[in-house]
Amino acid sequence: MIVIGINNIRVTRQNGKDVEEAISMIATYMASATKDEYDKIAQTIRHDLVFSEYGEDIENFIQYIPNTAETCRICMESYPAQAVLVCANTGQFYSLDLYDIGESPDNSSRGGTIMNFGYDEVSQTSVHITKSPDQKTGYAEIDRGRGIVSVHRMKALFCDDCIWDILNTVEHQLIEEFFIFDTEKRTFSPIDDSTTLQIGDYHLDIEYKDSDYRIDINYTSE
Ligand SMILES: [Zn+2]
Repeated sequence: MIVIGINNIRVTRQNGKDVEEAISMIATYMASATKDEYDKIAQTIRHDLVFSEYGEDIENFIQYIPNTAETCRICMESYPAQAVLVCANTGQFYSLDLYDIGESPDNSSRGGTIMNFGYDEVSQTSVHITKSPDQKTGYAEIDRGRGIVSVHRMKALFCDDCIWDILNTVEHQLIEEFFIFDTEKRTFSPIDDSTTLQIGDYHLDIEYKDSDYRIDINYTSE
C-alpha cells in the first residue's frame, strides 16, 4: 500500500488534490505501522517526498504540509552572532563569529582554541568548528551526509516565508541541509564551492575538497 501511495504521488504530483489524498493515505498507513516498518517507511518518504528532486513542483507540494512552528528560528529580534551556519533540518544555529557581539580582538575575553561540533541525523551531515580568536582565524568543516532536506521538519522550525527563502538558496547545491545566514542583513547564502562572503566583521572563504566543505573564517574589521 505504501508503494502504491508513493507511486501515485510521483504520477499525480502536478495535481494538488491528488497529492493531498495520497499524503493522507500515507499518514493513515504510517499510523498503523510497527516501529521497524515506520523507520523504513519514514526513510523512503523523506527521500521521495522531501528530497529536492521535486524541483519546480515543490511549491505546489509544500502548501499541503501544515506549518506547526510556533516561532520561526530565523525571524528573531536579536541574534547571538553576525554570521551563523544553520541546519535546515534541526534549526540549529552554529556561530561562525570569532568574538562575542560588540567585541573585537583588542577587548575579547576569548582565548585559546574553541571547538564546536554538530550533527544532523536526517541528512547524516556533521559539522566541526574550530576557532582561534587570538589568531583572528577559524574554520568550519562540513562532512557531507545523504543530502536530505525534510520539509516536514522545516515546517516545525521556520515560517513559510523563510522556508521558501531557504529552499531557493540551497536549491541545486551539494549541501542543501546547511546554509549561512547573515543576521544583520537577514540574507541567506548557500554552502557553495569557491565562494567568498563578507558577513559583519568576518570574511568567509568556502572551498570544496575531498568531498567535504571547509569554510575559512578571518576577522577583517580594523
Ligand atoms: Zn521566518
